[in-house]
Amino acid sequence: MIQKTDIPDFAICHRCGEPMKVIDLTAKAKKLGFHVVEGSFSIECCDFQLSIDDDDEAHCLKNMLLAYHN
Ligand SMILES: [Zn+2]
Repeated sequence: MIQKTDIPDFAICHRCGEPMKVIDLTAKAKKLGFHVVEGSFSIECCDFQLSIDDDDEAHCLKNMLLAYHN
């Protein structure tokens, strides 16, 4: 079970104070008729988008946020 305190500070939305959400870009793009790489996602909340250069770190954070929100 992931607690809010387990989420790193940079993944906490500075506007609403909640852990940011994982947006599935593949599903979103398909709906809009765009093609994106399978498994693409972004981490965002309140119109802010988090960009993480390190793929491993991004995936680790994604899993953590998904676990928190589920
Ligand atoms: Zn927010």
